[in-house]
Amino acid sequence: MTIRRIAVLGAGTMGHGIAHAAIAAGYETRLYDVAPAALDKGQAALDAVIGKGVELGKVSAGDASAMRGRLSTTTDLADAVEGTDFIIEAAPERIDLKLALMAEIERLAPQGAVIATNTSALSITELAGSISRPSRVAGMHFFNPVHKMKLIEIVQAMESAPETLQAIEDVARTMGKETVLVRESPGFITTRVNASLGNEAFYMLMEGVATARDIDKALKLGLNHPMGPFELVDLVGLDTRLSILEYLHRSLGEKYRPCPLLTQYVKAGRLGRKVGKGVYEY
Ligand code: NAD
Repeated sequence: MTIRRIAVLGAGTMGHGIAHAAIAAGYETRLYDVAPAALDKGQAALDAVIGKGVELGKVSAGDASAMRGRLSTTTDLADAVEGTDFIIEAAPERIDLKLALMAEIERLAPQGAVIATNTSALSITELAGSISRPSRVAGMHFFNPVHKMKLIEIVQAMESAPETLQAIEDVARTMGKETVLVRESPGFITTRVNASLGNEAFYMLMEGVATARDIDKALKLGLNHPMGPFELVDLVGLDTRLSILEYLHRSLGEKYRPCPLLTQYVKAGRLGRKVGKGVYEY
């Protein structure tokens, strides 16, 4: 299928980045949010990414203006999905909210449009199962910040059709991203491995195997990781990491039980960079 027009639903951290990737790839893009203030904020953030590209000489002034010309914003969902071929849902990570949004998409969008959800952890099969043609739904898991991160995990739900997965692959490639295909399972590839590794690092710290600085140094210099696991968790947020581990523990079993030291840090309010202290002080 030929995709010309993309609707991005949700203009937050991920939605504005996804809309940027879509206009940079040449798609006519409509960015939707329920909240006018969120839409303004998303558009300003997107504009800043374009501006930075121009400043760094990566984007010409002409291309920047063409990109801006391909973007429109709206707080009206019917307007957002009208005539669209491809919908990327980047609304908050709540199943009730996403199910309600799916029902609205089904009512308002063209029946042939692909619905790609950027959910990190919710069941895509459940979201797909709530509409009459679940075959047109699959996961398209972007990474933050979207304009810097090369990967998209394409997530195959129980009834995702091959054409749906192919359409997502085509859009991802046109956006200049690399893809991996993963069957729907908790944490996909990246979140599951990352949570496990980070949890193991906390166990080592708790057991006194080494200091946090030395564990980080070992992974960076010995295993070539760009960041140490504690530097990374301080960036992600210890509370976010804990809730991911709790979810993996519930769904995949014992080996994902959150390390008690991580739980203790969260109870102490050491949530990471965002509050000025996590494993490290900032
Ligand atoms: P966010 O809170 O930054 O943005 C969500 C936006 O959705 C807000 O602007 C909000 O106003 C808007 N919104 C609220 N209700 C809506 C509705 N009914 N329809 C459309 N928009 C609505 O959240 P985010 O971090 O951008 O996360 C969005 C999705 O992407 C979630 O499913 C999340 O799990 C996933 N995700 C997040 C990251 C990350 O690093 N933040 C990475 C990958 C995937």
